Parts: sequence; C-alpha cells; structure tokens
Amino acid sequence: MRRNQLSIHSENILPIIKKWLYSDKDIFIRELVSNATDALNKIRILRDQGQSIDGNLEIAVTIDKKRKTIQIADSGIGMTEEEVEKYIAQIAFSGAEEFVAKYKPKDEKEAIIGHFGLGFYSAYMIASKVEIDTRSYLPDSEAVFWSCDGTSDYSIGAGARSIRGTEITLHLDDESLEYLEEAKIRELLQRYCTFMPFPILLNGKPLGNKAPLWMKSTADCTEKEYLDFYRQMFPLDPNPLFWVHLNVDYPFNLKGILFFPKIHRRFDSQESTIKLFCNRVFVSDNCKDILPDYMMILRGAIDSPDIPLNVSRSYLQVDQNVRQLSSHIAKKIADRLSTYFKTEKEKYVDSWSEIEMFLKLGILQDEKFYERVRDLLIWKTSDGNWTTVGEYLERSSEKKVYYSSTDRDSPLLQMYKEKKLEILFAPSPIDTALISFLEEKLSCKFQRIDGSLDPSLVDASREKNLLDADGKTEAARIADFIRTALDKQELEIEAKSLSSDRLPALLVLDETQRRLRDYMALTQGKSAAPYHPKKTFIINTNNKLIQTIAKLKEKQPDVAKEMAKGIYDLSLLSQREVEPGDIDRVISQQTEILEKLSALLV
Ligand code: ADP
Repeated sequence: MRRNQLSIHSENILPIIKKWLYSDKDIFIRELVSNATDALNKIRILRDQGQSIDGNLEIAVTIDKKRKTIQIADSGIGMTEEEVEKYIAQIAFSGAEEFVAKYKPKDEKEAIIGHFGLGFYSAYMIASKVEIDTRSYLPDSEAVFWSCDGTSDYSIGAGARSIRGTEITLHLDDESLEYLEEAKIRELLQRYCTFMPFPILLNGKPLGNKAPLWMKSTADCTEKEYLDFYRQMFPLDPNPLFWVHLNVDYPFNLKGILFFPKIHRRFDSQESTIKLFCNRVFVSDNCKDILPDYMMILRGAIDSPDIPLNVSRSYLQVDQNVRQLSSHIAKKIADRLSTYFKTEKEKYVDSWSEIEMFLKLGILQDEKFYERVRDLLIWKTSDGNWTTVGEYLERSSEKKVYYSSTDRDSPLLQMYKEKKLEILFAPSPIDTALISFLEEKLSCKFQRIDGSLDPSLVDASREKNLLDADGKTEAARIADFIRTALDKQELEIEAKSLSSDRLPALLVLDETQRRLRDYMALTQGKSAAPYHPKKTFIINTNNKLIQTIAKLKEKQPDVAKEMAKGIYDLSLLSQREVEPGDIDRVISQQTEILEKLSALLV
C-alpha cells in the first residue's frame, strides 16, 4: 500500500465540501447512486456497441449497523488504478465528460448523469472515511482499493473485488448515524431514485424503481398510463383536466409531463408541485425559480439536464436555456388549451373555473402567452352566453365593454338588460388588472355598470325639472334634503330620472380611483393604505321610496332622514362597500328604521 496526496490545489477542500457544497446531507445517496447508474450505463453502451459483456446490471445498497457502514455496489464499468487516481483522486475532474466525448451514446436514454462534478465527495458529508473497491471491465484488470479519511491523504493499493464493478463503503461519522436506519435510506432512495433506469436493491430487497412515463414516446402512452402516473405522483387528487407531454431535443433538452389539475391550492402559496429531474434523478420539488409564477398551478415532472443546478435565482432568470424552456412549456400548454377549446368547447366552458386563473395570470405575466391564448379568454355575459372581448366588440357599435364585477342579478343589471345592453361578468379579483391590460391591447374602454351613470339609463321625459318659487327644481330639493340627511362632505349627491323605477338609488364609484384601490388591495393585501375612491350617490326621482321621502320630509323629517340613511347604507351594501366592522351598525340601523316606519302605521 502506498501513501499519496489528493491532487488538488487546495488542501482544505474536503472540509469545504462537507460544510458548504450541499446544504442538504441527504443528497449523498443521489450522488452515489447516480455515479453507479452512470457506470452501469457505460457498460450498457459498450454492450450495445458489440462488446461481449455479461452479468446483471444493478445497484445494491447495503447497510451494516454493526460496522456503521453503508455500501453502494454496482456491476458497472469499474475503474483501473489509473482511473481511480485520475477520476477520484483529482477532485472535480469529472470522468463523465471525458467518457461522453470518447463514446458518444447512440441514444439519449443512455444519457450520463454525472455532471455535478463533485458528486463522489458528497459522501464526506456523512462519512468520516470512504473506501472504494473496484474492478474495471477491461480484461485482465485487477481490483483496486482506495481509502481516504477526509484529509488530503489517501491510500491506494490492491483490492479484493472479484467481479466487475465498484463498491463504495461509507464509514459514517457520529453525527450521521441516523442514515443506518433502513427506513430512512428507503425513503431517500424513493425520493431521489424511483425513476432510475437500473434495478436498485436495499439490503437485498428491490426498491421497485422503474423508467418514468416521460421517457416513453407520446405515441406509445395510453390515457390510462398518464392517469396512473398522475395518481402515483398525486394520490389524493381527482383526475387532471388534461396534460402535455414534453419532449424536446433541440436546442435544449427537455422531457416531462405536466398535468393541469382539477383542484387548485390557493394561488398565493407559491409552492410548486412540479418535480424537477436531471436525467431521471430527482433534484428538487420546487420549480419556482425556473418557471414563471402562473405555471405553479401545474403538476407533474420535468426532466432536463440543461437546467443549471445549484445556482441562484437571478442567474436562472437570465439563463438562455431556462428562458427557452419556460417559453416552450407555455407554448405547449397554450396549444393544448386551444385544442381543448376548439374540440371540446362545452367541457372547456364547464372547466372554466379551473382554467381561468391560470389563463388570466399567464396573460398578465407573459405577453407572448397572451398572444397565444387571447381567443381562449372567455367571459360570461348577462345574456347567459360566453364570449371573448373581441367578439363582444364586434357586436357593439362603440368601443366600449359594459361589465359587472359580480355575476349576481340586481335591479341595476336589469336596467341595462332592459336597454338591451350586454354586460360581461368579471367577478374575479384579478379581473381589474386584466381589464386595464385588455383596454390597452384592444384600444377599448371597459365601463363598469356601477362606475358611472350611463346616459341610456336616464329617462329625460320624466325629469322633475319644474322650478318652484325659489327657482329650484323638485329634483334639486330632494337632493338637498338627502345631502343634509347624510351629512357627508366628500359625497356627491345627484337626483336623476332613471329609466326603471325599481332602483331607489345608485352609488357610483369613480372607476379610475376604484381600480387603483382594487389594485393596491390585490398587490399589497391588508397592508395597503386606506384609499377611498370618489363616490356619487344618485337618487332615482322615479322610485316610490324616494318619492315618499320627498313627501315625508316636511311632516316627518326625522323618519325621512333615517330612510335616506337607510337607502344609502343599502347602496353601500349592494356595492360590497360596507367596511366589515360596520355591518352590525348597518343591521341595527335598518331595524330601527323598520321600527319607526311600523310605528307610523299603527
Ligand atoms: P461526476 O459523477 O460528476 O463525474 P464524481 O466526483 O461523482 O463526478 O465522480 C468522478 C468520476 O469518478 C466519475 O465521472 C467516474 O468516472 C468515476 N466514478 C465515480 N463513481 C464511479 C463508479 N461507481 N463506477 C465507476 N466510475 C465511477
């Protein structure tokens, strides 16, 4: 046995690896099983190229509690002494790249995993000593034994291995003894290695790992296989709405299956349910640094060796591959949605509540995505139909879209319907932002039905505009009375003759200011500073209640005042503008008004 020094530039690299390279100790198993997989893949490639090589291709992980060791053995390509010196002793000199350059695999299925570079040395995160016993596939090679206790000294000499392959033995350090539990290692293998291509045995028992469905060509996958795969990954979910199977070779490599789920988590939870793999090796549960936010709703797996690992988010966002990758996914999903819309329109409409948020967020976050899905963005209308804004504008004579922020019926909505005006329903919180976006894109104006009094709703023939002795109209007098009754400086009050008699009053909020407020609430939540859009209270001089107030104001001014306040509160209520803390006050005030009115009757 000879003593030798690890050939690296810094003598202190091992403590660095141990402490800083990977924040997560668990990944040592991913690295070592990946190395074993690469070694087996190399054998398979040589066999495919006609070399006569026999024996099972498999990986055995064995835990020895007594000796406090974990052993990872493979029947792969093995290493000669020279190779151990070169590939193991020269840290960060990755043999994988050299191999690929020498024997280009015919088939990407044989892709070599090892490009993490320092993978083997991750063993030192949990081991105080690592030994390698290896024997190369080359004829007449002899077993080589290498041992290193984590300092920069190592020993190398004759090994004991009688068959081709490599055995890595980790002598666990005292802080890592939890890895001697079979259950723990099984869980880790299941997390990182379920889709690895060679059988893995843990203490002699098969892990049951198999090739992932995304490796199969789309044409060969059945619907049942996709659904089974989904259930395997997300056992508690109902079946997904649809899925896209990704398979790109150029100019970047991407495989995977993304499912559009039937149920969503709350949108603000930014956790991703897209698992990220690199050549079938599980890397992360979280794709949120790689894909745009709106895609976080999707579930499934993407597998790409072209995503740089262990780099910062800001780097990822400018990385060319990562950008192309998310734009490819966006395109695939847009195409799939488009087919869904064209071929199964009814189902599409039925699933709208599931699709809506994804589509709308995507439109707001990704201009290109908007161009692709603009005709798929549909709205329910007061006629009970579904329409796109483009179609709506084609039907309308003006460049104006009337919309309501709720899809509930109301006397105001009825008034518009009576005037044969079509109203779009835009009840989702994100719609405010979307409407501003569409106004710019389509050069049109969205007019919220309670955002101003549309001239078509005024019935000029019944206007109460006769002047009295003081030169005031009847309308102006009732407006004056209500102004005094409500006593709100900031509130404009107007009396109008509306086309329908049913609605006593209408509270109009300045559209621009209200959008600003809604936008601040959406982006800043509860921390948004209170902001009150300008309000105009329009009373309907054709309504019975308003006419009663006009009559009562001389005889019963107190009751008339209470009624005016009551109507104002009801308008606030119907606009959802009552502050939550104010609801109880409104209720007790309404009760008092009823009491006072009923007292007049008996
Ligand atoms: P990487 O896997 O990124 O290339 P590693 O430090 O994990 O880097 O491994 C360095 C090299 O050591 C590998 O590229 C390979 O040539 C060799 N090696 C590691 N483990 C094995 C193994 N189980 N069988 C054969 N060769 C191996």
